[in-house]
Amino acid sequence: MRKPIIVGNWKMNKTCAETVEFIKAVDEKLNDSCTYGVAAPFTALKDATANAHNLIIAAENCHFEDSGAYTGEVSIPMLKELGVTHCIVGHSERRQYFAETDETVNKKVKKLIEADITPIMCIGETEAQFDAKETETVIRTQLDNGLKDLCPKCVSRMVIAYEPIWAIGTGKSATKEIAEECCHIVRDEVRKLYGDEAAEAVRIQYGGSVKPENIKEYMAMEDIDGALIGGASLKVDSFLAIVEATK
Ligand code: PGA
Repeated sequence: MRKPIIVGNWKMNKTCAETVEFIKAVDEKLNDSCTYGVAAPFTALKDATANAHNLIIAAENCHFEDSGAYTGEVSIPMLKELGVTHCIVGHSERRQYFAETDETVNKKVKKLIEADITPIMCIGETEAQFDAKETETVIRTQLDNGLKDLCPKCVSRMVIAYEPIWAIGTGKSATKEIAEECCHIVRDEVRKLYGDEAAEAVRIQYGGSVKPENIKEYMAMEDIDGALIGGASLKVDSFLAIVEATK
């Protein structure tokens, strides 16, 4: 049985003080039915891990080198030292604004796995690709490249977030049928690449305008094992409404 995983992606939001306030309000109210977590800005990670007992704490990005002349970057050993257990890689905003590619995503995934930090690898098509019916090709290619040269056991421990770019922050969420179809394709591609065991174990999230009102319908779908949630994860009330809807 795959335990669902629901992660709030805070993006460039929340100071340390706001992070601590949020975690204190939420951490004790979780239940065991899902793994719940938040991906916080680098600056807030230390306070986040110090205050979270039940929530898992994720970084929103990392660099694939351990150290070196990469001004402004943060390495995996640095995250590890803070007690971070998960890390988002390849979010569409990183791909769009910060030149993230499938190749850098793959390097990061490998290094995270080596460090025993769970990668949450994001994939998804643009609106133009969706309209041109290229979704399947796009996501299979992103998976082939992003998951290159791993081992089946490594992949089985990963989280993959399918996030159609046209649904992120737009309020225009994918229907549960489209989300399921795409998450099913993700599982199928993992099966082709790494076999049945990895495909059955890997957790696949849907992301894109998920909120308390619609999370239940996604979670009821066979291949959807949770959600990556931006806007609706920022407020305590809304986060707790998501927790309530998924217990
Ligand atoms: P959203 O963002 O929930 O605000 O659409 C999702 C994401 O970017 O992961």
